Amino acid sequence: MSTERKLYCDCPTNYQDVPPNTNVCPICTGMPGAKPLPPNEHAVNAAIEIALMLGCRITTDQTIFIQRKHYDYPDLPSGYQRTSLPIARDGELQGVRIREVHLEEDPGQYDPVAGAVDYNRSGVPLVEIVTEPDIKSPEEARKFLRMLTRVLEYTGKVRPEAGGAMRADVNISLEGGGRVEVKNINSVKGAYRALKYEIIRQRERLKRGEAVVRETRAYLESQMVTVPMRVKELEEDYRYIPDPDIFPLILDAKRVNSVRGKMAEPPHLREQRLVKQYKIPNAAAEVIVSERELADLYEAVAREVDPKLAATWFRTKLKKVLNYMKLRAADVKFTPKQFAGLLQMVKMKRVTPEQGELVLRELAKEPADPEELLVKLGLVPLKKSELRAAVDRAIRENPRAVKDYRAGRKEALNFLAGKVMELTRGRADPREVARLLKSKLKKKRKI
Ligand SMILES: [Zn+2]
Repeated sequence: MSTERKLYCDCPTNYQDVPPNTNVCPICTGMPGAKPLPPNEHAVNAAIEIALMLGCRITTDQTIFIQRKHYDYPDLPSGYQRTSLPIARDGELQGVRIREVHLEEDPGQYDPVAGAVDYNRSGVPLVEIVTEPDIKSPEEARKFLRMLTRVLEYTGKVRPEAGGAMRADVNISLEGGGRVEVKNINSVKGAYRALKYEIIRQRERLKRGEAVVRETRAYLESQMVTVPMRVKELEEDYRYIPDPDIFPLILDAKRVNSVRGKMAEPPHLREQRLVKQYKIPNAAAEVIVSERELADLYEAVAREVDPKLAATWFRTKLKKVLNYMKLRAADVKFTPKQFAGLLQMVKMKRVTPEQGELVLRELAKEPADPEELLVKLGLVPLKKSELRAAVDRAIRENPRAVKDYRAGRKEALNFLAGKVMELTRGRADPREVARLLKSKLKKKRKI
């Protein structure tokens, strides 16, 4: 999660931006005698928010102990990881049940090749989300992880997925074999590939009559394979005990309600609402909710102009322009009013959709009144007579294409339309051009 401070001490969490072992103190390096501070309130609230967005029931009826989970690895200075009992249970995200959500601290980063450990990350708050075994294929797993990422991004309380801050442990079992857990996966693509690989590996073993044992494997990103890590620990191996240094968490309904009051509408629910409220296609709603800021922009624009026209533009032209300029909706500087103004011009047929796209590109570069941009781009409306003259000229100057078209070669019409667009310097509406060309060429045939 993207809090400013670690979970049990006041060290900063920007572990990627600083030299190794600088964001550290006796608490997060597990020095003898160092006592943890109470859990970071921001981290606890962020975990509650994430759990609520996933439709979970928050644990308000029980004291939530912080457990010590023991294991030995160089990245874990105290020899145990502090992990809470579930702060929430029984959620659901598009058909996949969420078993529980808990709060943990991240270990440090160990580099086995250099034999070095960096404790900057040690103690950074982490939320763990556990699903029920409701996923039946690597494709479903990929879809679920994408949706989950979107929910997490909507909270604004997690680090960007691109930074590798999201990790997944995937468990897979085929009929007749033991459950295998694959760790060391830090992307959606990685989870998909690891599962694909495991299915082939386990199926081959079972076919040969060999056992698939219950174990933990590691995914090697560079080779796209999984390798044995350790035979799966049982719960007992972790020797869980409540951490006597930390007062347990007690969450009450008042706190949960205050988090709920401030939280964003979850993207999957927002998608359904947009479809209903604005009567737009599912495909458009899906694109619109892909980013929270994009959805906010859409709703602001839809208040000003035809929501259906706006939805079409969000799905096609706006998406295209943003992709081309490598912008996220959060970086967009133009106002909903400016964009709505542009759409109004398209609706009133004052500009063609193609010209509108040119204006949109300018708008994304430097926000301005769309009317001014129209003048700046020289997109003054074309007169009917100008268009007719251009069509006549294109026909006159390209007798060969005319002949081809009349001989049944439809693509010759595109060639002629291209000439008209050239002659009008792109100001004509391509649909109008095609219509005029067709009618003119038909007329002459009759003669
Ligand atoms: Zn610290």
